[in-house]
Amino acid sequence: MSFAELQLHPSILKAIEACGYTEPTPIQQQAIPMAMAGHDLIATAQTGTGKTAAFVLPALQRLNSPAAGTGRGPRMLILTPTRELANQITDSIRAYGKFMRVKSCAILGGMPYREQLRLLSQAVDIVIATPGRLIDHLENRRIDLSRLEMLILDEADRMLDMGFTEDVDKIAAAAPANRQTLMFTATMDNTMARLAQRLLNNPERITIAGQKTTLDNIEQRLHVADDLRHKNRLLQHFVSDESVTKAIIFSATKRDADALAQELYEQGHRVAALHGDMNQGARNRTIADMRRGKVRLLVATDVAARGLDVTGISHVINFDLPKFAEDYVHRIGRTGRAGAAGVAISFASLNDQNYLDKIERFIGQTLPQHVIPGLEPTRGLRPKSASKGPRRGAPAAGRKSNAAAPSQWRGDSRGDNGQGNDKSRVKRWGAPKPTKAVTVEYRGAGANRPSRRVI
Ligand code: AMP
Repeated sequence: MSFAELQLHPSILKAIEACGYTEPTPIQQQAIPMAMAGHDLIATAQTGTGKTAAFVLPALQRLNSPAAGTGRGPRMLILTPTRELANQITDSIRAYGKFMRVKSCAILGGMPYREQLRLLSQAVDIVIATPGRLIDHLENRRIDLSRLEMLILDEADRMLDMGFTEDVDKIAAAAPANRQTLMFTATMDNTMARLAQRLLNNPERITIAGQKTTLDNIEQRLHVADDLRHKNRLLQHFVSDESVTKAIIFSATKRDADALAQELYEQGHRVAALHGDMNQGARNRTIADMRRGKVRLLVATDVAARGLDVTGISHVINFDLPKFAEDYVHRIGRTGRAGAAGVAISFASLNDQNYLDKIERFIGQTLPQHVIPGLEPTRGLRPKSASKGPRRGAPAAGRKSNAAAPSQWRGDSRGDNGQGNDKSRVKRWGAPKPTKAVTVEYRGAGANRPSRRVI
């Protein structure tokens, strides 16, 4: 199928051509005609499948017709869980709408209110928003959703995990009942089904098995580590390897990301940290520096890196394993994008065994163990129990319910959800500063780790 067969407006086709896309991805082939026909839609698809264009293109298509309602409020609203995703959607709108007159604006946590008020005082076609900040404007009557034609929920499952259910419901309630609603989610469970029942009207359904395809391009390797010191030595080995041209190193916590980035910086690497305690400007600059190649190693936490779309990531290194198996798939999906080959390296010690078992059940395969000569572990992992076969339906099935959601997305301060408090941090490259002994508190997840780490 070609894009022309989708009967998109010539200005959109021209922009798609300028992006270098030759044919629509499976999600685009299915979702675009349904959305253009005016149906509500539930699409189960991962990032990396081309889902952003699957909702942005129909939204742009609709903007070629005059607005149905009057007023200055947005005609399209795209809700997304994190600022990074919102920025990527904004970039996509800019790229796909480059031959149209489209006024879009992003309403995100962490942005100055004054600027947002200025943007909202003007007529706007598309608003891209994180639910928390949008609800704030809605409750203060600074945004009018009365002429909304299309409501798009991107990564709806993640928004619910992050505690945004009530906000999403309120936002939908403020929009006209006859709007069109498109819901994109990586996983489908009862909670999602209930949300769909509340917000969508007789929806069409599409399921794209994206994870398996993504994993196929990625060589996965497991390195058994005795302890933190051993992990650090393994990391040394990989970051010194020239074939690691651009890597994301995942750590368990924001603090660990900073500490690890600091260590790598002091060793002379072009490194930056990326996590939710950094303000939006710093995060954008870091991602831009990674894209430009100014940063080679990015030490990130899960949520900050979610949806991160940087081409040419040669390696993903799980310095700490994720606690939730589906995050493993999201993490390694940062490499091997757009058909390129990628390598995903995971470090695991005996204490990570349960996490590793969950990951292997989820992806339905055993991670092949590799050993670096001279860095052999002295202890192995537990032999696999016969009862722990691959989970049925994995990996596409995803998590079961909110109860299984990572703790950082439940309760407390909503964790590293991208709405952070602008404190931090490390983003450095070039010549290292003289190494100094710094002691920082270490609050890693593993029970056997030292309580303090000395850099
Ligand atoms: P997404 O799943 O929306 O995060 O998209 C993943 C990547 O695929 C992005 O880098 C897009 O630019 C790219 N992409 C989207 N649609 C196409 C297409 N039809 N052909 C080639 N690349 C695409």
